Amino acid sequence: MPEGHTIHGVARAWRPLVGHRVAASSPQGRFAEGAWILDGRTVEDVQAYGQHLLGDFGHVHLHVHLGLQGSIFRAAPEGTASSGVRLRLAIEPPGPTWDIVAPTRCELLDESERRSLLARLGPDPLRADDPAAAFARISASAKPIGALLLDQGVIAGVGNVFRAEVLHRCGVHPERSGTSLTNDDLRCLWATLVRLMERATEAGRIVTVETPVGFDRTGLDPPEGRYVYKQARCRDCGSEVRTWTLAGRTAYACETCQVPR
Ligand SMILES: [Zn+2]
Repeated sequence: MPEGHTIHGVARAWRPLVGHRVAASSPQGRFAEGAWILDGRTVEDVQAYGQHLLGDFGHVHLHVHLGLQGSIFRAAPEGTASSGVRLRLAIEPPGPTWDIVAPTRCELLDESERRSLLARLGPDPLRADDPAAAFARISASAKPIGALLLDQGVIAGVGNVFRAEVLHRCGVHPERSGTSLTNDDLRCLWATLVRLMERATEAGRIVTVETPVGFDRTGLDPPEGRYVYKQARCRDCGSEVRTWTLAGRTAYACETCQVPR
């Protein structure tokens, strides 16, 4: 699933749309009415909130959530869109062009629907949000922290890779209850999320291992860039990585670095 850094990367890539009229179409036809409403409008703002992309078209908001299969990519301005493209957006006349394929949600929201969507999301590490609300919800919950981190109402934007890697970096076992976490644990989780997610947004991929200053992280194969996610052995201490299902997704933990309590 695209994690928050992917959506923030799209929002940054879409900044050139702001202030421009766009041409909108739905080659697939499943968003034909929405595209018709957006066509010819001026983009006033583009923002990412966790895994949600919101484009402000003046009193109407485009909401995109990619889910597990969706993607957004830059297309050739004059090229023909494939029939699977739910929405094509281009700066008029055919300028920079983006295609959205197989999103879970691609819809128009009014202002109150937009507010209610945002009210359901926890603080986002990539928006410099205050984490106090997330800390309060975690500290009050007996659920495992590995489940709480994937709950977008607790923290917005965390997917399975960041869940595994951030818990490892902070030495927190995924099965520990929210109530068992100390203030230091909570501060470590938030600060590490901010740092690793910002780094991933800049690089366009997730590399969590520490490397020497000046080292080109983009040259690492994905398996070399993580400590426990999809690793047989912990890249930190060499112990075997345990996997199991937690909150519907595969959890990864090194029980030497992340002691269960
Ligand atoms: Zn380890």
